[in-house]
This record gives sequence, structure tokens and C-alpha cells, in this order.
Amino acid sequence: MNKRGYFIHGGDPSGGFAVVAPSLQEARRIVYQAGEIEADWIDIAGWWCRDAKVGDLPIGVVEDLRTGLVRGMYQYLEDFECDACGEIGFVCKYNGQVLCMSCKREKKKEKQNERSNQKSG
Ligand SMILES: [Zn+2]
Repeated sequence: MNKRGYFIHGGDPSGGFAVVAPSLQEARRIVYQAGEIEADWIDIAGWWCRDAKVGDLPIGVVEDLRTGLVRGMYQYLEDFECDACGEIGFVCKYNGQVLCMSCKREKKKEKQNERSNQKSG
């Protein structure tokens, strides 16, 4: 079966669920039937996360928020622990890690430095 990653919400995209399903319609149905969102069927919406890697995940709601983020269904999480510094806050994905904004900035800087070192070296 074709598996795709979807982000499904109940009318407010600032909060929603990562879902693995063969289609958007099916992803909406899974969330609706799971009773995870208090919303009418008509309000349940979402989108296909084109770059999400979900081939090895089971069909259904992705219960682990971290997995949802690392696999590309969430763009960020709030009140979540940073892999690097351990602080709880606003995190996003960077190179397969879950990082807060300041750690992400640091890693980006490191990467840029590596690149410029390679260029000059
Ligand atoms: Zn951090």
C-alpha cells in the first residue's frame, strides 16, 4: 500500500496530528474516527507532507511527536525537549535532530564554517 505522511487538523493548523495514510481522505477519516480532534468532519482538513519519510511506519496517527517532526509531518513542536541542550521550548528538525532555535542557529553556523574551511583548505 502506498504510504504518505499527512498533517491533519480540526480547522486550526497551529495544532494537529501527523498521520500515515494512503490518501488525504483516508488520513482525515483516521483522525475523525480516532476521536482525536473535537471537530466536525467537514472542518477536518490538512495536507500531504511531500517530503515525509513514512514507509516503515504503520497506517494511523503517529503517536510519538518526535517521530512526526523528524519524519517531516510537523514543521515544529512547542514545549518539547531539544536534543542538543535539553531545554524545553520551541523546536524544529535539523539534520535528523530535534533542535531549539538557538541550537539550530549554532549548527547552521558550524556547517557554514565547515564549508568555508573546505573551500579555503
Ligand atoms: Zn537547544
